[in-house]
Amino acid sequence: MIPEEKILHGIPVAPGIAIGRAYVCAALGTIRTEQREIPLHEVATEIERFLRAVEESKRQLITLREQVAKELDEKHAEIYTPQLALLDDADLIDATVETIRSEQKNAEYLFARRINEFLDQLRKLDDGFLVGRETDFQDVAWRVLNNLGRQQHATHATFGPDTVLVGHDLLPSQSANLLKEHVVGLALEKGGPTSHTAIIAKATEIPTVVGVEGIMQVVREGAPVIVDGVAGKVILFPSQETYARYLARQSEFQQLERELEELRDLAAETLDGYSITLRANIEFPEEISHIKLHGARGVGLFRTEFIFLNRERLPNEEEQYQIYKQVAERVFPDTVIFRTLDVGGDKFFAASARPRELNPFMGLRAVRLCLKHEEIFRPQLRAMLRANALGNAKILIPMISGVEEFRQVKQLISTVIEELRGEGYQIDHSVEIGAMVEIPSAAILADELARECDFFSIGTNDLIQYTLAVDRGNSSVAYLYEPLHLSVLRLLRMTVKAAEDAGIKVSVCGEAAADPLYALILAGLGVHELSMSAVNVPAVKRVMRAVTLQELRALVEEIFNASTISERKSVLKTFLDFLVRERGVPAGEILSASIAHLE
Ligand code: PEP
Ligand code: MG
Repeated sequence: MIPEEKILHGIPVAPGIAIGRAYVCAALGTIRTEQREIPLHEVATEIERFLRAVEESKRQLITLREQVAKELDEKHAEIYTPQLALLDDADLIDATVETIRSEQKNAEYLFARRINEFLDQLRKLDDGFLVGRETDFQDVAWRVLNNLGRQQHATHATFGPDTVLVGHDLLPSQSANLLKEHVVGLALEKGGPTSHTAIIAKATEIPTVVGVEGIMQVVREGAPVIVDGVAGKVILFPSQETYARYLARQSEFQQLERELEELRDLAAETLDGYSITLRANIEFPEEISHIKLHGARGVGLFRTEFIFLNRERLPNEEEQYQIYKQVAERVFPDTVIFRTLDVGGDKFFAASARPRELNPFMGLRAVRLCLKHEEIFRPQLRAMLRANALGNAKILIPMISGVEEFRQVKQLISTVIEELRGEGYQIDHSVEIGAMVEIPSAAILADELARECDFFSIGTNDLIQYTLAVDRGNSSVAYLYEPLHLSVLRLLRMTVKAAEDAGIKVSVCGEAAADPLYALILAGLGVHELSMSAVNVPAVKRVMRAVTLQELRALVEEIFNASTISERKSVLKTFLDFLVRERGVPAGEILSASIAHLE
């Protein structure tokens, strides 16, 4: 019997329509393996095979621990210790051996079953610390299963064409790899629109819906699935009629994209000649070609942490230098803004390296971690400074909370420049150093901070999260995540004003900049530059070219005068109607990026 069509709703994060088959990522859920009977005469060999895989796993973990100790420090290396202890745990290893003997089934199946029993117990305990240990169990399980010859970890899986990944959530270190494969769509049970998995999905232009509650209960491996990244729907087992409708929508969407691409070489300029620079956010150097394709001017935010994730050892100065140099050269004469390492929050060096912090988003993240670990920070700064041979690079510091922190960074950069010069490097160009304004304290102190910085870049993803106390990756509070909240708008206005008074440039590089209608508000507020996933550049450019600066200023005034969020949304809707009616802007292209915002 053909299963009935099921429509599930979530949050759209990367536009487009994907039609394919589900690959269920058990990555953060239960570990699944196939069950096989083992003939009695092969039981001893099966036990030996299992113990060999355990030994190999131990060896790998010890090497990893040594590498991290060398590259980072002993403290971080310690994250592998609990996993090593698990591999010596009689309750896990001896118990598995015992069941292979008594039940005569394959090692993968029995080991995974034992791990799942542990996981079930942990989940029942409802103890924050122990629950955090899930990752240890899962990492150990993947490692042993991989060493048994079964490619368990979705990170390493090979996907057929038209694969739609369906999962609970992906860690950024996993998604970074996943999205390099031929995957056409992504549907996740968890996550908010600005979680880092969502950002990666958007960068790689894969239609994505997150926060799809209940999908893991109904999805089946290989099930036909449609991801509607425009409306935020996931359709499992689509009927023939739905399938045909979506095929048509898919080609309409592609046609629209082609039309937008025609704007590639035109300026982002209002009808009365006010121009604003649209740049691209990137996570990997491979994305540079996308930038040019979509007509963005250089890179407004290079999230360099992504080159640190998902590797066994951290990239050294030389490796980083090669990457930064390549990016700077390829975008020249446009600018590239290198953001220094922003790990912590929902990004960790390795899937298993999740620190034991109760509040990682408020913990040792970004510049805080860098200032504490100069052995990581210095090589990165050196690499960035060396990569600025053409003078088109700037350095951006994330998570600045106040003046002292920024001064500390500037001091360190001056020392590093002297050091490089002393070693004979030619550091000719003075490099601009900017602060991200993404913590409310930085926005409140923007006037003080503006005197210290060469430029501001407002990170709305975090600014909204911290202002409204809404975890950006948590789908259950996603309804509260509101860029149109008056508090957020006021902080934006304060920051822009402070930048103006100090005569420095201000850009916005959070996802809000990618929403064409929100981008109009930002331009009306006086923001000079917007940086976004390259795919969103054409739609923003399209609306910018359809308005005058005066109209934008009036729009901003109306937005600030409205007293509720829904009133602000209706101001935007009215403005959109005007654009469609009077200026011939096709509604579809704007709504595809703005719809979540207006509904
Ligand atoms: C932001 O916070 O808005 C931002 C651009 O940085 P990230 O999303 O990497 O935290
Ligand atoms: Mg941020």
